[in-house]
Amino acid sequence: MNGARGYIQLIATGGTISIGPDGVLRAGSMIKMARRLPADVPIRGEDFATVPSSCMTQDDHRKLAERVNGSLADDGCLGVVITHGTDSMEETAVALEMLCAPSKPVVVTGAMVPSKDSGADGPGNVADAIEYALSDDAGRAGVVVVMNSRVHAAFEVQKLHTISKDAFSSGDAGPIGLVAPGDVELVRTPTRLGLKSDTLDDSVELIKLTAGGGARLIDCAAQGGARGIVIEAFGVGNLPERVIESAESARRGGAVVLVTTRVGSGPILLCGSAIKAGLIPATVGGRRVSGLAARIMLMAMLGAGLGGREISDLLSAGGSEG
Ligand code: ASP
Repeated sequence: MNGARGYIQLIATGGTISIGPDGVLRAGSMIKMARRLPADVPIRGEDFATVPSSCMTQDDHRKLAERVNGSLADDGCLGVVITHGTDSMEETAVALEMLCAPSKPVVVTGAMVPSKDSGADGPGNVADAIEYALSDDAGRAGVVVVMNSRVHAAFEVQKLHTISKDAFSSGDAGPIGLVAPGDVELVRTPTRLGLKSDTLDDSVELIKLTAGGGARLIDCAAQGGARGIVIEAFGVGNLPERVIESAESARRGGAVVLVTTRVGSGPILLCGSAIKAGLIPATVGGRRVSGLAARIMLMAMLGAGLGGREISDLLSAGGSEG
C-alpha cells in the first residue's frame, strides 16, 4: 500500500461481472461484493454503462477516457478501477492507455463467471484490482488488466479462452505482476509509448490474411477511405507478394499500414520487401502487439495527428519504460 491519503474511483461499465442475482449490478454493488477492501482507503463508485463489452464502440472509449482523465485530475484520486466485460477488455485497456497515458494506476477488471453464480470470480478480481491500484509503483505500469490474480500490461494482454477464469495471457512476455491477498508483486515494468492522444481516428481496419485471401480486403479498405490498416500476416509477419502490392498501394494512397501476426505468440520479423514497401511492424519496445491492440493504437496515433514516418519512429524507438 502506498500510504497516501485519498480514494480509489471505481467505474462500472457492465459485462458478466455485472450480472447479479437480482439483475444488473452497478458500481455500488461491485464495491460491496469485493472479496476484501482496504481498511483505510475509501472506494467511490461511478456508473458509466451497463453494456456487454461486445457493444463497446470508439465513442464509448473516448467518453470513458474523459471520465478517467477527469478522475485522475483530482489530487485525492489515487487510481481508477474499471469493471468491464471481458470480450473487448483488451481493446478498452489500449484505448485508455493511449487516451489517458496515466501516471496513476488505471486497472481494468471483470469476470468470466456471472457474479450471481457460486464460483463467481468477480468479487476476487475487484479486490485484486483495488489492491494492485494501491500498491507501490503501480502508476508506472500505466493501464493494466487484472484478472485471475495476474496483472497484464495494456499492450500485451489478450483474451485467449472463451470460458476459463484463466482466459487472459500476456503471451511470451508473461504477466507484469501477481496479486494475492496482502501481497502485490510487480515483476517488471512494461514499455509504454509515451504518447497521450486526444482522440481515436475511427477509419482504421484490421485485416487477417488467409491462404489466398486478404489482398482484396486491403484494396476495399483503402478505397473505402481507411487512413490506417493493420494486417495480421502469416507466421513471423510473412506477406505474399500480391498482399504487399495492395498494402503498398494503400500506403501510397495515404494510409498507414502496420503489420502484426495472426499467430498467438512469438515475435514478428518483417521481410525486406515489406519494409521496402513502407509497412511498419506493430511492436512496442520490440515486442509484438496483437492485431486488436495495434488497431486501437493506430487509431490513437492517427488521432494525435502523427504521419507514417512519425509512427514508424515512435514504434521502433521502443517507447519508454513506464
Ligand atoms: N459478454 C461478456 C462481456 O460483456 C463476457 C464477459 O464479460 O465475460 O464481454
